[in-house]
Amino acid sequence: MAEKLDLIPASEWGFFTQPQPPVIAGPCAAESECQVMETARELAAIGIHAMRAGIWKPRTHPGSFEGVGEQGLQWLLKARREFGLRVGTEVARKEHVEACLRYGIDWVWIGARTAANPFMVQEIADALRGTDLPVLVKNPVNPDIELWIGALERLNRAGIRKLGAVLRGFSTIHQTTYRNDPGWQIAIELRARFPELPFFADPSHMGGDRKFILGLSQRAMDLGLDGLMIESHHCPAKALSDARQQLTPAELQEMLAHQLNVRASDSQESDYRANIDMLRARIDIIDENLLSLLKARMEISETIGHFKKEHNIIILQLPRWEALMDNLIRIGNTDGLDERFVQALFNVIHQESIRIQNEVLSAKE
Ligand code: PEP
Ligand code: MN
Repeated sequence: MAEKLDLIPASEWGFFTQPQPPVIAGPCAAESECQVMETARELAAIGIHAMRAGIWKPRTHPGSFEGVGEQGLQWLLKARREFGLRVGTEVARKEHVEACLRYGIDWVWIGARTAANPFMVQEIADALRGTDLPVLVKNPVNPDIELWIGALERLNRAGIRKLGAVLRGFSTIHQTTYRNDPGWQIAIELRARFPELPFFADPSHMGGDRKFILGLSQRAMDLGLDGLMIESHHCPAKALSDARQQLTPAELQEMLAHQLNVRASDSQESDYRANIDMLRARIDIIDENLLSLLKARMEISETIGHFKKEHNIIILQLPRWEALMDNLIRIGNTDGLDERFVQALFNVIHQESIRIQNEVLSAKE
């Protein structure tokens, strides 16, 4: 598994200067010349430099608005000419890439449905080979980090170095508050594995409703993601797709300027440093203690395994496990620990105990 991408930082792509954080905004879809131009005018006026608009729309059901196609590229170029915006659109096939290159579109993104398909990603990567177009790759619809990384690798191997990721959330079988499960854990893992990879959040597609955009953007910023891709339409109520999750440029401006709190990633200020270093040292000690306690616990599990083997007893004694979990949750509750946390933690510990006992039982004498 390759763990290295050859990247050019987003600050050198030439279109993220102001405002901070880097924000890409624009309608879900280009619908008419008038809508693109009016939205572009308002976005440029609030200081946005990069505009998005889908012109080939991957819709769930046939018969929905599927985008205006190539003519939309003309409108995007006009928006660039008149308002200096760097314009981008979604590509899902090599014909889309070829059209974007012919027209001179500034950047492209790969959507969540396409990112899930290695054949399609490879086709796009091959069509982009030899260019230095910036490409953003949304997470695949299914929560598979390797598939996402694989898509990034395919583009990088084709020579795309202005490469970034966009977290737009994951499909789930359950009904959740959000349209898509944000999957913050996967974002944290991607960030840890590729700290240099420009990383955006798309709170519009995560939340599915404009009322969630601020909260999700704040969470993305607090986790140290670099920027945001937000759907914005001059008149969201009239949008032909994703109407509920788009902000007007004025609402976007209000959020960016007055509501979103972009915290510093670190500080050298002495009071902060002294306290944070001391607190982290305490956490480190507790973590090390936790590890040695876990080691002691697993050793006892192994001894129990031998004992069960000797007496020919099965590994999983459900009543014992249920009683143990009930007890732990009760204690956790008294100590103010979240029940789901306690349950998840001890499920992992229990699984490891079972794995160890299984090894003991299956070992040849
Ligand atoms: C979009 O950005 O409009 C879009 C279709 O996004 P996603 O691929 O994240 O669903
Ligand atoms: Mn959309």
